[in-house]
Formats: sequence, structure tokens, C-alpha cells
Amino acid sequence: MTAPRLAVLRVLELAERPLSHAEVVARLALQLPRGDEAVWDRATVYRNLVALESVGLVRISSHAGGIGRYELVRRREGCTHPHFVCDDCGIVSCLPEAEVVTKRNTRWSKSLRSAEVQFVGRCPSCSGA
Ligand SMILES: [Zn+2]
Ligand SMILES: [Zn+2]
Repeated sequence: MTAPRLAVLRVLELAERPLSHAEVVARLALQLPRGDEAVWDRATVYRNLVALESVGLVRISSHAGGIGRYELVRRREGCTHPHFVCDDCGIVSCLPEAEVVTKRNTRWSKSLRSAEVQFVGRCPSCSGA
């Protein structure tokens, strides 16, 4: 793996929620020594996100607002936890404590690869809870 690919993977590993391409770029910029920004331009980061997705290490777990948000695939938790999209701040949060249950042995169960389940509302920080 190349250095940018590892760095992108590391950002997603440390992320507490799915991140858009722009958010990954912003987080990478914070980590980098000055002068290295050119190597980590937006296109490079995007290419690496696509590459990581194609090998199954990363997936797009939300398309809220037409923006793809990337998340590390964590084997143990399986492929299906829902997400919460805040109407106010637009942040997409993971709801790992909730589970998506599908019926086994239906014609569709073999087809299921992942799920994009999304709750919408005001997140705790926006509603002051
Ligand atoms: Zn919010
Ligand atoms: Zn998630």
C-alpha cells in the first residue's frame, strides 16, 4: 500500500462517523507537516477512497444530501448499522447500538451485501440534549 492510501485508511479508522471526501481531505491536512499538502491533493485522496472501496476495506455508508460518506468496513460488526442524519448540521452519525434485522431464507437474503439505513432528525448536539 502506498503512503497516501495508508493515511486515508488511518483517517477512516480513527473516524467516529462516516466521512465525506472533503472531510477526509480536511482531516488529512491537519495531520500533515507543512509543505506536504501538494502530495495529498483532493484528487489523490479521492482516487484512494475509490481504490479502498473497490477492495472492500471501505464502503460508502451514506448518500445523505447527495454526498457519499465513507466508512471503514469493520468485520466484526457485520455490514449493517443504521446512520443518523442531522437536519441542522448535516453530520452523519453511526448508530452502532441499533441493528438492522432482515429475515433469513428469503429470496433476497443471498443478495444482501450491505445496507444504507438512515434516520433523519436533529442530533443531540443541535437539539441541546
Ligand atoms: Zn446536528
Ligand atoms: Zn457507520
